[in-house]
Amino acid sequence: MAVQTDAPTTSTSAAASGAASVDLGPAAGLSCRECGERFALGPIFACEQCFGPLEVAYDLPTGDPERLRKQIEAGPANIWRYAPLLPVPADVADKPNLNPGWTKLVKADNLARELGVTGGLFVKDDSGNPTHSFKDRVVAQALEAARAFGFTTLSCSSTGNLAGAVGAAAARAGFRSCVFIPHDLEQGKVVMAAVYGGDLVGIEGTYDDVNRFCSELIGDPIGEGWGFVNVNLRPYYAEGSKTLAYEICEQLGWRLPDQIVVPIASGSQLTKIDKGLQELIKLGLVEDRPYKIFGAQAEGCSPVSAAFKAGHDVVRPQKPDTIAKSLAIGNPADGPYVLDIARRTGGAVEDVNDEQVVDAIKLLARTEGIFAETAGGVTVGVTRKLIENGVLDPALTTVVLNTGDGLKTLDAVSPSTGPTATIRPSLDAFRAAGLAH
Ligand SMILES: *Cc1c(COP(=O)(O)O)cnc(C)c1O
Repeated sequence: MAVQTDAPTTSTSAAASGAASVDLGPAAGLSCRECGERFALGPIFACEQCFGPLEVAYDLPTGDPERLRKQIEAGPANIWRYAPLLPVPADVADKPNLNPGWTKLVKADNLARELGVTGGLFVKDDSGNPTHSFKDRVVAQALEAARAFGFTTLSCSSTGNLAGAVGAAAARAGFRSCVFIPHDLEQGKVVMAAVYGGDLVGIEGTYDDVNRFCSELIGDPIGEGWGFVNVNLRPYYAEGSKTLAYEICEQLGWRLPDQIVVPIASGSQLTKIDKGLQELIKLGLVEDRPYKIFGAQAEGCSPVSAAFKAGHDVVRPQKPDTIAKSLAIGNPADGPYVLDIARRTGGAVEDVNDEQVVDAIKLLARTEGIFAETAGGVTVGVTRKLIENGVLDPALTTVVLNTGDGLKTLDAVSPSTGPTATIRPSLDAFRAAGLAH
Protein backbone atom coordinates (compact mmCIF):
# COMPACT_ATOMS: atom_id res chain seq x y z
CA MET A 1 0.00 0.00 0.00
CA ALA A 2 1.24 3.47 -0.82
CA VAL A 3 -0.21 6.95 -0.55
CA GLN A 4 0.19 9.92 -2.88
CA THR A 5 1.39 12.93 -0.95
CA ASP A 6 1.24 15.60 -3.63
CA ALA A 7 -2.33 16.00 -4.91
CA PRO A 8 -1.75 14.55 -8.38
CA THR A 9 -4.46 14.62 -11.03
CA THR A 10 -3.47 11.19 -12.31
CA SER A 11 -1.33 8.51 -10.76
CA THR A 12 1.41 7.79 -13.27
CA SER A 13 4.24 5.66 -11.97
CA ALA A 14 7.64 5.69 -13.65
CA ALA A 15 7.14 2.10 -14.76
CA ALA A 16 3.73 2.81 -16.30
CA SER A 17 5.13 5.62 -18.41
CA GLY A 18 7.93 3.54 -19.87
CA ALA A 19 10.80 4.66 -17.63
CA ALA A 20 11.04 1.32 -15.84
CA SER A 21 14.83 1.39 -15.75
CA VAL A 22 14.88 4.50 -13.56
CA ASP A 23 15.03 3.48 -9.92
CA LEU A 24 14.70 6.48 -7.67
CA GLY A 25 13.13 4.68 -4.74
CA PRO A 26 9.79 6.13 -3.62
CA ALA A 27 9.81 8.82 -6.34
CA ALA A 28 6.78 8.00 -8.49
CA GLY A 29 7.01 10.80 -11.03
CA LEU A 30 7.18 14.56 -11.40
CA SER A 31 4.23 16.88 -10.91
CA CYS A 32 3.74 20.48 -11.92
CA ARG A 33 3.51 22.83 -8.97
CA GLU A 34 1.14 25.08 -10.94
CA CYS A 35 -1.30 22.79 -12.78
CA GLY A 36 -0.66 19.38 -11.18
CA GLU A 37 0.11 17.67 -14.52
CA ARG A 38 2.15 14.49 -13.99
CA PHE A 39 5.26 13.40 -15.88
CA ALA A 40 7.52 10.35 -15.80
CA LEU A 41 10.82 10.68 -13.96
CA GLY A 42 13.40 12.27 -16.24
CA PRO A 43 15.85 15.18 -16.54
CA ILE A 44 13.08 17.73 -17.05
CA PHE A 45 12.20 20.71 -14.89
CA ALA A 46 9.37 22.66 -16.51
CA CYS A 47 5.79 21.63 -17.26
CA GLU A 48 5.06 21.04 -20.96
CA GLN A 49 1.53 22.40 -20.44
CA CYS A 50 2.02 25.60 -18.44
CA PHE A 51 5.83 25.94 -17.97
CA GLY A 52 5.39 25.69 -14.20
CA PRO A 53 8.22 24.17 -12.16
CA LEU A 54 8.17 20.40 -11.65
CA GLU A 55 8.68 18.65 -8.35
CA VAL A 56 9.05 15.05 -7.27
CA ALA A 57 5.85 13.23 -6.30
CA TYR A 58 6.09 10.13 -4.16
CA ASP A 59 4.57 6.85 -3.21
CA LEU A 60 5.58 7.25 0.40
CA PRO A 61 5.40 4.37 2.86
CA THR A 62 2.18 4.05 4.82
CA GLY A 63 1.45 1.94 7.82
CA ASP A 64 2.79 2.06 11.32
CA PRO A 65 4.65 5.34 11.94
CA GLU A 66 6.44 3.71 14.86
CA ARG A 67 8.02 1.14 12.52
CA LEU A 68 9.18 3.81 10.08
CA ARG A 69 10.56 5.87 12.95
CA LYS A 70 12.56 2.88 14.21
CA GLN A 71 13.82 2.14 10.70
CA ILE A 72 15.03 5.73 10.34
CA GLU A 73 16.65 5.75 13.77
CA ALA A 74 18.54 2.54 12.92
CA GLY A 75 19.87 4.10 9.69
CA PRO A 76 23.25 5.73 9.04
CA ALA A 77 24.20 9.06 10.66
CA ASN A 78 23.72 10.98 7.41
CA ILE A 79 20.88 11.96 5.08
CA TRP A 80 20.46 8.36 3.87
CA ARG A 81 18.65 7.47 7.10
CA TYR A 82 15.73 9.17 5.28
CA ALA A 83 16.20 7.25 2.00
CA PRO A 84 12.59 5.90 2.17
CA LEU A 85 11.43 9.54 1.82
CA LEU A 86 13.89 10.67 -0.89
CA PRO A 87 14.22 10.20 -4.69
CA VAL A 88 17.10 7.75 -4.35
CA PRO A 89 17.46 3.97 -4.77
CA ALA A 90 17.28 1.85 -1.62
CA ASP A 91 21.00 0.92 -1.84
CA VAL A 92 22.11 4.56 -2.08
CA ALA A 93 24.31 4.33 1.01
CA ASP A 94 26.55 1.78 -0.75
CA LYS A 95 27.39 4.13 -3.64
CA PRO A 96 30.35 6.52 -3.63
CA ASN A 97 29.06 9.86 -2.40
CA LEU A 98 29.91 12.32 0.36
CA ASN A 99 27.26 11.08 2.85
CA PRO A 100 26.29 14.58 4.04
CA GLY A 101 23.85 15.53 6.76
CA TRP A 102 23.05 14.64 10.37
CA THR A 103 24.68 17.92 11.33
CA LYS A 104 24.47 19.27 14.84
CA LEU A 105 21.37 20.92 16.26
CA VAL A 106 23.02 23.14 18.85
CA LYS A 107 20.99 24.30 21.84
CA ALA A 108 22.05 27.93 21.83
CA ASP A 109 21.38 29.00 25.42
CA ASN A 110 23.94 31.83 25.43
CA LEU A 111 22.54 33.33 22.25
CA ALA A 112 19.02 32.83 23.62
CA ARG A 113 19.92 34.91 26.69
CA GLU A 114 21.32 37.71 24.49
CA LEU A 115 18.22 37.73 22.30
CA GLY A 116 15.73 37.22 25.12
CA VAL A 117 14.45 33.90 23.79
CA THR A 118 12.89 31.83 26.58
CA GLY A 119 11.16 29.07 24.60
CA GLY A 120 14.35 27.31 23.49
CA LEU A 121 16.68 28.50 20.74
CA PHE A 122 18.56 26.09 18.46
CA VAL A 123 21.09 26.57 15.68
CA LYS A 124 21.01 23.90 12.97
CA ASP A 125 24.66 24.07 12.00
CA ASP A 126 25.08 22.90 8.43
CA SER A 127 28.66 24.14 8.25
CA GLY A 128 29.48 20.61 9.42
CA ASN A 129 28.77 19.10 5.99
CA PRO A 130 31.62 17.68 3.87
CA THR A 131 32.18 20.88 1.85
CA HIS A 132 31.03 23.10 4.71
CA SER A 133 27.65 24.22 3.47
CA PHE A 134 24.12 22.86 3.20
CA LYS A 135 24.63 22.37 -0.56
CA ASP A 136 26.05 18.85 -0.04
CA ARG A 137 22.51 17.73 0.80
CA VAL A 138 21.00 18.85 -2.50
CA VAL A 139 23.96 17.76 -4.63
CA ALA A 140 23.78 14.24 -3.17
CA GLN A 141 20.21 13.91 -4.53
CA ALA A 142 21.16 15.37 -7.92
CA LEU A 143 24.06 12.92 -8.17
CA GLU A 144 21.70 9.95 -7.75
CA ALA A 145 19.40 11.38 -10.43
CA ALA A 146 22.42 11.90 -12.71
CA ARG A 147 23.41 8.26 -12.22
CA ALA A 148 19.84 7.10 -12.91
CA PHE A 149 19.60 9.15 -16.13
CA GLY A 150 23.05 8.13 -17.39
CA PHE A 151 24.76 11.53 -17.22
CA THR A 152 28.56 11.55 -16.99
CA THR A 153 29.21 15.26 -16.34
CA LEU A 154 27.91 17.21 -13.34
CA SER A 155 27.48 20.94 -13.73
CA CYS A 156 25.81 23.93 -12.07
CA SER A 157 25.45 27.68 -11.93
CA SER A 158 26.53 28.71 -8.47
CA THR A 159 26.84 31.59 -6.03
CA GLY A 160 29.86 29.71 -4.62
CA ASN A 161 28.92 26.93 -2.25
CA LEU A 162 27.19 24.83 -4.89
CA ALA A 163 30.26 24.82 -7.13
CA GLY A 164 32.37 23.34 -4.32
CA ALA A 165 29.72 20.76 -3.44
CA VAL A 166 29.39 19.66 -7.07
CA GLY A 167 33.17 19.51 -7.57
CA ALA A 168 33.62 17.33 -4.49
CA ALA A 169 30.68 15.02 -5.20
CA ALA A 170 31.82 14.53 -8.81
CA ALA A 171 35.37 13.75 -7.69
CA ARG A 172 34.18 11.11 -5.26
CA ALA A 173 31.68 9.55 -7.67
CA GLY A 174 34.04 9.52 -10.65
CA PHE A 175 32.09 12.08 -12.74
CA ARG A 176 33.55 14.90 -14.79
CA SER A 177 32.53 18.29 -13.43
CA CYS A 178 32.33 21.70 -15.06
CA VAL A 179 30.85 24.43 -12.89
CA PHE A 180 30.07 28.11 -13.45
CA ILE A 181 30.32 31.02 -10.99
CA PRO A 182 30.29 34.82 -11.11
CA HIS A 183 33.95 35.85 -11.57
CA ASP A 184 34.09 38.05 -8.45
CA LEU A 185 33.34 35.56 -5.63
CA GLU A 186 35.17 35.30 -2.31
CA GLN A 187 38.56 33.57 -2.52
CA GLY A 188 37.42 30.86 -0.11
CA LYS A 189 34.58 29.92 -2.43
CA VAL A 190 36.75 29.97 -5.56
CA VAL A 191 39.45 27.77 -4.01
CA MET A 192 36.85 25.36 -2.61
CA ALA A 193 35.31 25.07 -6.06
CA ALA A 194 38.63 24.49 -7.85
CA VAL A 195 40.53 22.22 -5.49
CA TYR A 196 38.60 19.03 -6.33
CA GLY A 197 40.10 19.07 -9.81
CA GLY A 198 37.05 19.65 -12.03
CA ASP A 199 36.68 22.55 -14.43
CA LEU A 200 35.68 25.88 -12.91
CA VAL A 201 34.58 28.76 -15.13
CA GLY A 202 34.24 32.34 -13.91
CA ILE A 203 31.61 34.28 -15.84
CA GLU A 204 31.87 38.04 -16.19
CA GLY A 205 28.45 38.91 -14.80
CA THR A 206 26.09 38.34 -11.87
CA TYR A 207 24.68 34.99 -10.76
CA ASP A 208 21.60 35.68 -12.85
CA ASP A 209 23.85 36.06 -15.93
CA VAL A 210 25.56 32.76 -15.04
CA ASN A 211 22.18 31.06 -14.75
CA ARG A 212 21.00 32.38 -18.10
CA PHE A 213 24.22 31.18 -19.72
CA CYS A 214 23.72 27.69 -18.27
CA SER A 215 20.17 27.52 -19.65
CA GLU A 216 21.66 28.26 -23.09
CA LEU A 217 24.27 25.55 -22.62
CA ILE A 218 21.60 22.98 -21.82
CA GLY A 219 19.79 23.76 -25.04
CA ASP A 220 23.03 23.39 -27.05
CA PRO A 221 24.59 20.09 -28.21
CA ILE A 222 27.59 20.93 -25.95
CA GLY A 223 25.37 20.33 -22.93
CA GLU A 224 24.20 16.87 -24.00
CA GLY A 225 24.98 14.32 -21.31
CA TRP A 226 25.42 17.08 -18.74
CA GLY A 227 23.47 16.99 -15.50
CA PHE A 228 23.06 20.58 -14.28
CA VAL A 229 22.19 19.93 -10.67
CA ASN A 230 20.14 23.11 -10.24
CA VAL A 231 18.64 23.28 -13.74
CA ASN A 232 17.70 20.01 -15.52
CA LEU A 233 18.10 18.01 -12.28
CA ARG A 234 16.49 20.72 -10.14
CA PRO A 235 13.39 18.73 -9.09
CA TYR A 236 15.64 16.04 -7.55
CA TYR A 237 18.24 18.48 -6.22
CA ALA A 238 15.58 20.47 -4.41
CA GLU A 239 14.38 17.42 -2.46
CA GLY A 240 17.67 17.36 -0.55
CA SER A 241 16.54 20.33 1.51
CA LYS A 242 13.75 18.22 3.01
CA THR A 243 16.41 16.42 5.04
CA LEU A 244 16.96 19.62 7.05
CA ALA A 245 13.34 19.48 8.16
CA TYR A 246 13.55 15.76 8.94
CA GLU A 247 16.73 16.13 10.98
CA ILE A 248 15.50 19.13 12.94
CA CYS A 249 12.33 17.30 13.97
CA GLU A 250 14.10 14.04 14.80
CA GLN A 251 16.76 15.90 16.80
CA LEU A 252 14.01 17.70 18.73
CA GLY A 253 12.65 14.25 19.68
CA TRP A 254 10.28 13.87 16.70
CA ARG A 255 8.66 17.22 17.36
CA LEU A 256 7.95 20.20 15.10
CA PRO A 257 9.69 23.43 16.07
CA ASP A 258 7.33 26.39 16.52
CA GLN A 259 9.41 28.77 14.41
CA ILE A 260 12.19 28.27 11.83
CA VAL A 261 14.35 31.01 10.32
CA VAL A 262 15.65 30.04 6.85
CA PRO A 263 17.92 31.98 4.45
CA ILE A 264 16.62 32.69 0.96
CA ALA A 265 18.70 32.62 -2.23
CA SER A 266 16.48 31.04 -4.90
CA GLY A 267 13.99 30.13 -2.16
CA SER A 268 14.19 26.42 -2.93
CA GLN A 269 15.47 25.41 0.49
CA LEU A 270 12.68 27.20 2.32
CA THR A 271 9.93 25.66 0.21
CA LYS A 272 11.34 22.15 0.65
CA ILE A 273 11.72 22.53 4.39
CA ASP A 274 7.99 23.20 4.41
CA LYS A 275 7.41 20.15 2.17
CA GLY A 276 9.50 18.00 4.55
CA LEU A 277 7.54 19.15 7.61
CA GLN A 278 4.24 18.48 5.82
CA GLU A 279 5.39 14.95 4.95
CA LEU A 280 6.36 14.18 8.54
CA ILE A 281 2.88 15.26 9.63
CA LYS A 282 1.16 13.16 6.92
CA LEU A 283 3.27 10.12 7.80
CA GLY A 284 2.35 10.48 11.47
CA LEU A 285 6.01 10.88 12.49
CA VAL A 286 5.31 14.15 14.31
CA GLU A 287 2.24 15.58 15.96
CA ASP A 288 0.33 17.98 13.70
CA ARG A 289 0.79 21.41 15.28
CA PRO A 290 1.13 24.87 13.75
CA TYR A 291 4.62 26.05 12.82
CA LYS A 292 5.83 29.32 11.33
CA ILE A 293 8.51 29.67 8.65
CA PHE A 294 10.48 32.93 8.44
CA GLY A 295 12.61 33.86 5.42
CA ALA A 296 15.85 35.83 5.75
CA GLN A 297 17.56 37.97 3.11
CA ALA A 298 20.33 40.56 2.93
CA GLU A 299 19.10 44.10 2.32
CA GLY A 300 21.36 44.37 -0.76
CA CYS A 301 19.45 41.47 -2.33
CA SER A 302 16.00 41.38 -0.82
CA PRO A 303 13.46 40.90 -3.62
CA VAL A 304 11.36 38.42 -1.62
CA SER A 305 11.43 40.48 1.55
CA ALA A 306 10.42 43.58 -0.44
CA ALA A 307 7.47 41.71 -2.00
CA PHE A 308 6.40 40.33 1.38
CA LYS A 309 6.38 43.76 2.98
CA ALA A 310 4.53 45.31 0.03
CA GLY A 311 1.89 42.56 0.12
CA HIS A 312 2.73 41.48 -3.44
CA ASP A 313 2.41 37.94 -4.86
CA VAL A 314 5.08 38.48 -7.48
CA VAL A 315 8.75 39.17 -6.87
CA ARG A 316 10.39 42.05 -8.71
CA PRO A 317 14.03 41.18 -9.65
CA GLN A 318 16.89 43.21 -8.14
CA LYS A 319 20.55 43.67 -9.00
CA PRO A 320 22.37 42.25 -5.95
CA ASP A 321 24.88 44.28 -3.95
CA THR A 322 25.66 42.58 -0.63
CA ILE A 323 28.44 40.77 1.22
CA ALA A 324 26.06 37.80 1.54
CA LYS A 325 27.09 36.52 -1.89
CA SER A 326 25.82 32.99 -1.36
CA LEU A 327 22.30 34.47 -1.14
CA ALA A 328 22.76 37.00 -3.95
CA ILE A 329 20.12 35.82 -6.40
CA GLY A 330 18.28 38.84 -7.74
CA ASN A 331 15.58 36.86 -9.53
CA PRO A 332 14.71 33.97 -7.17
CA ALA A 333 12.89 31.15 -8.97
CA ASP A 334 10.94 30.06 -5.88
CA GLY A 335 10.17 33.57 -4.62
CA PRO A 336 6.36 33.40 -5.08
CA TYR A 337 6.20 30.02 -3.31
CA VAL A 338 8.22 31.43 -0.41
CA LEU A 339 5.70 34.27 -0.09
CA ASP A 340 2.86 31.73 -0.01
CA ILE A 341 4.51 29.66 2.72
CA ALA A 342 5.49 32.62 4.90
CA ARG A 343 1.90 33.91 4.71
CA ARG A 344 0.19 30.52 5.10
CA THR A 345 2.21 29.56 8.18
CA GLY A 346 1.97 33.01 9.79
CA GLY A 347 5.69 33.68 9.32
CA ALA A 348 7.38 36.64 7.63
CA VAL A 349 10.27 37.59 5.35
CA GLU A 350 12.76 40.16 6.63
CA ASP A 351 16.16 41.53 5.67
CA VAL A 352 19.23 42.98 7.40
CA ASN A 353 22.01 45.21 6.06
CA ASP A 354 25.66 44.21 5.66
CA GLU A 355 26.71 45.78 8.96
CA GLN A 356 24.01 43.82 10.80
CA VAL A 357 25.18 40.66 9.02
CA VAL A 358 28.73 41.13 10.30
CA ASP A 359 27.47 41.95 13.82
CA ALA A 360 25.36 38.79 13.80
CA ILE A 361 28.27 36.61 12.62
CA LYS A 362 30.28 37.90 15.57
CA LEU A 363 27.36 37.53 17.98
CA LEU A 364 26.92 33.85 17.08
CA ALA A 365 30.68 33.26 17.28
CA ARG A 366 31.09 34.87 20.70
CA THR A 367 27.97 33.32 22.25
CA GLU A 368 28.05 29.78 20.83
CA GLY A 369 31.48 29.20 19.29
CA ILE A 370 29.98 28.83 15.83
CA PHE A 371 31.65 30.71 12.99
CA ALA A 372 29.01 31.21 10.31
CA GLU A 373 29.39 32.45 6.77
CA THR A 374 27.48 35.56 5.74
CA ALA A 375 24.28 33.54 5.14
CA GLY A 376 24.35 32.55 8.84
CA GLY A 377 24.84 36.21 9.71
CA VAL A 378 21.71 36.93 7.71
CA THR A 379 19.56 34.39 9.57
CA VAL A 380 20.85 35.32 13.03
CA GLY A 381 20.56 39.04 12.21
CA VAL A 382 17.03 38.61 10.91
CA THR A 383 16.10 36.56 13.99
CA ARG A 384 17.28 39.40 16.22
CA LYS A 385 15.39 41.96 14.15
CA LEU A 386 12.17 39.91 14.13
CA ILE A 387 12.32 39.56 17.92
CA GLU A 388 12.94 43.29 18.36
CA ASN A 389 9.97 44.02 16.09
CA GLY A 390 7.72 41.65 18.01
CA VAL A 391 7.20 39.41 14.96
CA LEU A 392 9.03 36.33 16.25
CA ASP A 393 7.72 35.07 19.58
CA PRO A 394 10.61 34.61 22.06
CA ALA A 395 8.48 32.26 24.18
CA LEU A 396 8.34 29.62 21.42
CA THR A 397 10.85 26.98 20.31
CA THR A 398 12.90 28.54 17.53
CA VAL A 399 15.40 27.00 15.12
CA VAL A 400 17.82 29.23 13.19
CA LEU A 401 19.70 27.79 10.21
CA ASN A 402 23.41 28.32 9.71
CA THR A 403 23.95 27.06 6.19
CA GLY A 404 27.67 27.66 5.72
CA ASP A 405 31.13 28.00 7.25
CA GLY A 406 32.69 31.35 8.11
CA LEU A 407 36.08 30.25 6.79
CA LYS A 408 34.66 30.61 3.29
CA THR A 409 33.72 34.27 3.77
CA LEU A 410 36.67 35.60 5.78
CA ASP A 411 36.55 38.78 3.70
CA ALA A 412 33.31 39.77 5.45
CA VAL A 413 34.78 39.87 8.94
CA SER A 414 38.54 40.29 8.43
CA PRO A 415 38.44 44.12 8.20
CA SER A 416 36.95 44.29 11.70
CA THR A 417 38.49 41.21 13.32
CA GLY A 418 42.08 40.63 14.37
CA PRO A 419 44.50 40.25 17.28
CA THR A 420 43.65 42.07 20.52
CA ALA A 421 47.30 43.06 20.70
CA THR A 422 50.58 42.29 18.96
CA ILE A 423 53.49 42.38 21.38
CA ARG A 424 57.11 41.32 21.98
CA PRO A 425 57.35 37.93 23.76
CA SER A 426 57.82 39.41 27.24
CA LEU A 427 55.73 39.61 30.40
CA ASP A 428 56.29 43.36 30.57
CA ALA A 429 54.87 43.81 27.09
CA PHE A 430 51.86 41.66 27.99
CA ARG A 431 51.23 43.68 31.17
CA ALA A 432 51.59 46.89 29.17
CA ALA A 433 48.95 45.69 26.74
CA GLY A 434 46.44 45.72 29.62
CA LEU A 435 45.49 42.05 29.29
CA ALA A 436 47.09 40.71 32.49
CA HIS A 437 43.92 40.13 34.49
C1 LIG B 1 22.49 28.04 -1.60
C2 LIG B 1 22.50 28.53 -0.22
C3 LIG B 1 21.32 28.79 0.50
C4 LIG B 1 19.90 28.69 0.02
O1 LIG B 1 19.68 28.51 -1.29
P1 LIG B 1 18.24 28.41 -1.96
O2 LIG B 1 18.57 28.71 -3.39
O3 LIG B 1 17.34 29.42 -1.36
O4 LIG B 1 17.78 27.02 -1.78
C5 LIG B 1 21.46 29.17 1.81
N1 LIG B 1 22.66 29.32 2.39
C6 LIG B 1 23.80 29.07 1.74
C7 LIG B 1 25.09 29.25 2.45
C8 LIG B 1 23.77 28.66 0.41
O5 LIG B 1 24.93 28.42 -0.22
